[in-house]
Amino acid sequence: MNTHASVVVIGGGVMGAAIAYHLAAAGVRDVLLLERDALAAGSTSKAAGGVRAQFSDELNIQLGARSLEAFGRFGEEIGHDIGLHRVGYLFLLSTPQEVASFEAGVRLQNALGVPSRMIDPAEARRLSPLIRTDGLLAAAFSPDDGHCTPEAVDDPDEGGR
Ligand SMILES: Cc1cc2nc3c(=O)[nH]c(=O)nc-3n(C[C@H](O)[C@H](O)[C@H](O)COP(=O)(O)OP(=O)(O)OC[C@H]3O[C@@H](n4cnc5c(N)ncnc54)[C@H](O)[C@@H]3O)c2cc1C
Repeated sequence: MNTHASVVVIGGGVMGAAIAYHLAAAGVRDVLLLERDALAAGSTSKAAGGVRAQFSDELNIQLGARSLEAFGRFGEEIGHDIGLHRVGYLFLLSTPQEVASFEAGVRLQNALGVPSRMIDPAEARRLSPLIRTDGLLAAAFSPDDGHCTPEAVDDPDEGGR
């Protein structure tokens, strides 16, 4: 194992792997990524794979939107399919407090260029026919969001395990 490196990144989850990749892409020559188990052995391989920009604060909305862009380029840039499906992300809201909170979130998301919108229960059912609309007041939907295969982001050769 190398005993010297310009940068040592500890942890080969999605964060460590992305940091190591971007340092190398920026021209840092000797980046060492240390993982005590297998790449993506931690939370990364346990994630459900939802990817979205529907958050309630500016920083997370912008991070989510930039991540969606990066995931969209992933196949071309890295040469590996991460199973990205931008089928949208639907939040079902059943209390007035949730509706008010998501309305504020959607306003902020729209101001930052995220095409989310509030929809009524009938439209939510049309988008996702298996849901029950009893007690549903509204829903929030963004067509740009979706899901991918989290462990594939980390370890293309081994499928993350
Ligand atoms: C059940 C579940 C569902 C989730 N669903 C989603 C989702 O749908 N969408 C979403 O965006 N996020 C989701 N997440 C969150 C997401 O998985 C995490 O935010 C993300 O994986 C964190 O990545 P990470 O690289 O910071 O951590 P990790 O993937 O945990 O990586 C940390 C790595 O560091 C290694 N390590 C730790 N200590 C040392 C050490 N001393 N030396 C060497 N290596 C070390 C570990 O072995 C591990 O591999 C979910 C998480 C869980 C648990």
